Amino acid sequence: MSLVVQKFGGSSLATPEKIHRAARRAIRSKLEGRRVVLVVSAMGDSTDELLKLASGVCSDPPKRELDMLLTTGEQVSIALMAMAIESAGHEAISLTAGQLGLVTDSAHTRARIQRISRERIDRELDQGRIVIVAGFQGTDAGGEITTMGRGASDTTAVALAGALGADRCEVYKDVDGVYTADPRLVPNARRIPVLSYDAMLEMAGAGAGVLHPRAIDFARKFNVALEVRSSLWEGKGTMITPETAETAALPVRGVVLREDLALAALAGVPNQPGVTARVFAQLADKQILVDDIVQGVEADGRTVRISFSISRTDAGATREVCERLRQQCGWAGVEMDESVSKISAIGVGMRSHAGVAHVMFDALARAQIDVLGISTSEIVISCLVRRGDGPRALRGVHDAFGLGEPGPQAPMSGVTSLQGPAATKL
Ligand code: ASP
Ligand code: MG
Repeated sequence: MSLVVQKFGGSSLATPEKIHRAARRAIRSKLEGRRVVLVVSAMGDSTDELLKLASGVCSDPPKRELDMLLTTGEQVSIALMAMAIESAGHEAISLTAGQLGLVTDSAHTRARIQRISRERIDRELDQGRIVIVAGFQGTDAGGEITTMGRGASDTTAVALAGALGADRCEVYKDVDGVYTADPRLVPNARRIPVLSYDAMLEMAGAGAGVLHPRAIDFARKFNVALEVRSSLWEGKGTMITPETAETAALPVRGVVLREDLALAALAGVPNQPGVTARVFAQLADKQILVDDIVQGVEADGRTVRISFSISRTDAGATREVCERLRQQCGWAGVEMDESVSKISAIGVGMRSHAGVAHVMFDALARAQIDVLGISTSEIVISCLVRRGDGPRALRGVHDAFGLGEPGPQAPMSGVTSLQGPAATKL
């Protein structure tokens, strides 16, 4: 009998009606002859509300207790979902991570899954029940309650699908799939029918909030057929699959804007070996994640300017580290621009198309947008821009790659498909 894992996010469970709607989906799959495992998040914004409660009591809550608190959100959802299914005349059972045996490491608030036991779930499914699992949570080897980071119910669902050998994992959201760009910012953005794991991972990493990055990692590792679908209406969503000719046909599949960045610049740094290493060692020590790094020679021709982007929440800590080093090493200055965005164009087809960077820079130039930094990898090109320019940059680049056009996109002028082993990326 085929097995499906269905995951419902908080906004798809925000009211009793929405819980009933999700329950009907699960029941329909059951009636079609499938074994059904549901993974649910906390209702609506209840995780945010719990966090607010915690900060009202304590400015720096102990992480163990934060996990204890936040996991209650999902526990509410599993119980209500089981009640909704039972009230429709079908058997269901809710399970916490501890009850089913989802074991993580002990890193509170950012735990990683270590193993998942099949035994309890299999037993319940054998009884003909719909099994409802609390997302986002785990227990460590000592039985302590953990959570796996904001949005990690996706990860619970995909990891369960992998562990149970499910035929598919359906993630239900209030959007009907992954879009070529955020439709709130780009009105002609389109749903992407099929996307590779690699491109999805990069889109999530670049700031597309649609799936938790670790969920995509699991999907790739266990080859889970993953689909993002709408909880509100029927119809196709986005299938996330191994790379195929279809997913690689276009150089760029989507553009993503990340708006919560800051750009630090160290000015007039002596150009000596080891200086850069020292800066980044100290930032790493403070657990500060550095995104893109640009180094260039200053006008004096002797010293260098090192710029790097970080999450805006790390701006204060970064400034402290750099200011301390500046005093020790005597650089000219430390600058911090806290209103920077990053626009990224992503596509596995970039590996085999030339001119992609040119199209992107040209679109930004035509929109009169200054580029503050550039970084590239095999399937991503990113530019840092001023925050105010972000949405306009996004629309310009989206259109330049022809992503808003209906049907299979025509190859845009300036980009050529390269064939054979001589293919280079840019
Ligand atoms: N409820 C948790 C959160 O809001 C987990 C999730 O939604 O996936 O982050
Ligand atoms: Mg949530």
